[in-house]
Amino acid sequence: MKSSFSFADRSAVADRRTLRVTPQRRAVLRALEELGCAQDVEAIHARARSFLPRIGRVTVYRTLGLLQAQGLVEALHLGDGRTRYELARHHHHHMVCLRCGTLEALEACAIEPLEALARSRGFRITAHRVELFGYCAGCQG
Ligand SMILES: [Zn+2]
Ligand SMILES: [Zn+2]
Ligand SMILES: [Zn+2]
Repeated sequence: MKSSFSFADRSAVADRRTLRVTPQRRAVLRALEELGCAQDVEAIHARARSFLPRIGRVTVYRTLGLLQAQGLVEALHLGDGRTRYELARHHHHHMVCLRCGTLEALEACAIEPLEALARSRGFRITAHRVELFGYCAGCQG
């Protein structure tokens, strides 16, 4: 992927504002950048170790929490009890296959009318989540 520099820059800006730049944070952000959507801690840890061999699982977990608090990373809960993480790069949704477990990004969002309705009732929206569950083309029939 060619866009890793934009993320390095973005995290550097966040670092100057709130936290120190650490090799751990860089390794985790780079792992997320390369892995793409919805990765579990094991996968992120494995990839981060290719940049920073001595990084531990607990450090990866803690770093993900910090990045999440800064709004750079989002946590996803897909109903199987495992928390997955991805970069909060652009707003999108997912479709998840219940048989083979593949997860695909859906770049469209159709929630605006619902948000407008909620706002019209005085509700202040901070986030929304929509994931579609079902069977991918290869898993039907
Ligand atoms: Zn995603
Ligand atoms: Zn499938
Ligand atoms: Zn949306």
